[in-house]
Amino acid sequence: MVKAIVGANWGDEGKGKITDMLAKEADIIVRFQGGANAGHTIVNDYGKFALHTLPSGVFYSHTTNIIGNGVALDIPVLIQEIKSITERDVPAPKILVSDRAQIVMPYHILFDQYEEERLGGKSFGSTKSGIAPFYSDKFAKIGFQVSELFEEDILKDKLKRVCETKNILLQHLYHKPLLDPEELLRTLQEYRDMIAPYVCDVSLFLDKALKAGKNILLEGQLGTLKDPDHGIYPMVTSSSTLAAYGAIGAGIAPYEIQKIITVCKAYSSAVGAGAFVSEIFGEEAEELRRRGGDGGEYGAKTGRPRRMGWFDCVASKYGCRLQGTTDVAFTVLDVLGYLDEIPVCVGYEIDGVVTTDFPTTGKLEKAKPVLKILPGWKEDIRGIKEYGDLPESCRNYVEFIEEQIGYPITMVSNGPGREDIIYRKSGLR
Ligand code: GDP
Repeated sequence: MVKAIVGANWGDEGKGKITDMLAKEADIIVRFQGGANAGHTIVNDYGKFALHTLPSGVFYSHTTNIIGNGVALDIPVLIQEIKSITERDVPAPKILVSDRAQIVMPYHILFDQYEEERLGGKSFGSTKSGIAPFYSDKFAKIGFQVSELFEEDILKDKLKRVCETKNILLQHLYHKPLLDPEELLRTLQEYRDMIAPYVCDVSLFLDKALKAGKNILLEGQLGTLKDPDHGIYPMVTSSSTLAAYGAIGAGIAPYEIQKIITVCKAYSSAVGAGAFVSEIFGEEAEELRRRGGDGGEYGAKTGRPRRMGWFDCVASKYGCRLQGTTDVAFTVLDVLGYLDEIPVCVGYEIDGVVTTDFPTTGKLEKAKPVLKILPGWKEDIRGIKEYGDLPESCRNYVEFIEEQIGYPITMVSNGPGREDIIYRKSGLR
């Protein structure tokens, strides 16, 4: 049985917490896209961790944690991250890395920085982890697969060719130091030795696991609105954030994915540039940011303050639809307990017409939020285990949003820890 855990919005919905929680019953957790550009924050018995590359199942000794072929693999970051958790007494996790995953090269990180510098005020707000240059090279067919680290003759030739083209850009567009293929070869030899213990034919491994009836989780990064096809292009990430891509990025059949758990946060937050219709500003935003998540809404990777907004039913309905949601996990509801009234964005007004369908980017830029004000519950709901024990206004908030987005909220998260979860049997279906 395969379950995918993905985001409905701009990322930071709490996928890490839900994955860590569901990993208890899973055998294998697979990262299938993205790279070290975003992070999951996880709070469990070992402490609080920000993971950028490792799957969120690494805190259980019974799980195998996999970096799938769809990931942008930054080898030094992976090795450092393994060290950072074992140093804090987490037992050494079982990790496998696809032999078909491609490697973030040192120059991808440089090109990311140089391009952001060149674009100045028109930049994409990249985390400068090399992700966009990495995926550009992958699809331009000049990327490096993990398997190629073990084919040194081919590697040498290819490095020479790739450096020639990169150096033209470095010299004439960016005016920066040139790449030396010899030095890069030495770096890749180091990478080979670091990664060798983990390399595996992942799709074959997963095929056998599926035949043996194992439980597999596919862990997404970011959310629907950052998908390069269906998101707010061009303010998107460079690999698909959709559950459907989980089949490709892990190397399994699409029909194996039986459950798609889409994580929605009880309010909105976003990092980076791009339209954000239900965004709020000033003191109102600052208070939600300070109280939000677990210790405030600041980027797990960059520490940047996240942009804040009210829950957006238009974006979330769309986000859930594109994921193919079977279940919604509704997170961080506890944070809203301080508000007398809670606005929710129920429509977009574009050129005088109200719609509940999420538009393409040009129209989105013109959209104004149509807000409905719901009563708050003014109570701390942490520690509550039964849905029926939530305050009535809180249940009304959940059920109003469920109705608006049209997908069943079967889990409500009321705290950052593994145990802070309320299962709802009914939901919409
Ligand atoms: P991800 O990238 O989707 O995993 O999201 P992040 O980890 O970046 O952001 C979610 C933040 O919210 C983290 O700090 C979590 O510890 C925290 N969190 C997750 N679920 C809850 C919840 O139900 N309540 C509270 N207060 N915090 C939560």
